[in-house]
Amino acid sequence: MDHFSAKVLAWYRDHGRHDLPWQIPDPYARWLAEVMLQQTTVSAVVPYYHRFLSAFPSVQALAQASLDEVLASWSGLGYYARARNLHAAARLLMERHAGVFPRTADEWAALPGIGPSTAAAIVAFAFDVQAAILDANVRRVLSRYHGVAGRDAKTERLLWGHARAHTPADQVAAYTQAIMDLGALVCRKTPDCSACPLADGCSFDGEEAPPRRPPKPERAVYMAVIVEPERGILLVRRPPRGIWGGLWSLPESAALASLPAAVQALGIEGDMGEPHPPLWHVFTHFRLSITPVRVGRVSRGHGVAEGGDAMWYKGGTPGPGMPAPVRRLVNQFLEAS
Ligand code: SF4
Repeated sequence: MDHFSAKVLAWYRDHGRHDLPWQIPDPYARWLAEVMLQQTTVSAVVPYYHRFLSAFPSVQALAQASLDEVLASWSGLGYYARARNLHAAARLLMERHAGVFPRTADEWAALPGIGPSTAAAIVAFAFDVQAAILDANVRRVLSRYHGVAGRDAKTERLLWGHARAHTPADQVAAYTQAIMDLGALVCRKTPDCSACPLADGCSFDGEEAPPRRPPKPERAVYMAVIVEPERGILLVRRPPRGIWGGLWSLPESAALASLPAAVQALGIEGDMGEPHPPLWHVFTHFRLSITPVRVGRVSRGHGVAEGGDAMWYKGGTPGPGMPAPVRRLVNQFLEAS
């Protein structure tokens, strides 16, 4: 074990996180947690982790569930491709591995939605197998410590090389959590170098300028809230790919003027109300304004086909999988109707 990893491990004993709910030697729990943590913070993940695990307590249960059920349990956590990939990977694990979890990072990385760092974290945590990770937190520590900056292929190779060199042959699970925690708790965007066990050998000189990000572009969408007193609000299933793929949402249009046509295309006629104030939702690369328009007094289309890709929704939990802002809108209108 080199000095770097010995110092990180010593720091971890007193200052790291030891009581996260997924810190158990269970590959299913670790896999689920690592996927949830890919783009989400620990505090946001914890309630979803418990909810998901109680709905699908094993890889068998997850593989047997429908995608709708999986998306419903994921609803609100965002980045739904993760849930679709998790479901597809569960089915592959059952088909290819008879539900027995592989013990190598390469086998995990061959499953949907699992990159090399996530694959390494799963086998390191679940089986204590020596495998190097390079997630955002670890990348920040190694970049600063070794004075390596950039996003090009050469930098990537250098950082992976450092990650491998520092990963010890034993205590791999503890080291992996330790280096993650150091990045999350100490070597943060504004690092607390006075509390860092690596301060002695670190190349960071405090001059690192935070990357300047241009303001996110904005997109707009108009959503029809078709209200039928007896049956609730009409939801339509989104295409399987792309933004919110496979989730239930409201009929929509990119322009207000074309929203009536989108509603009529569903075989529905009703009174289009005035647009309500927009609701904003922030994605990684853009901000989306969602303007709801209530459609009431439905005069035709009460019997719009259910099943398939359309359903009337009257509220209740857990309900179908909906994007968080759409669920918020639907609940607001249900309460008001
Ligand atoms: S000394 Fe500071 S910059 Fe270097 S690894 Fe520690 S917290 Fe990060």
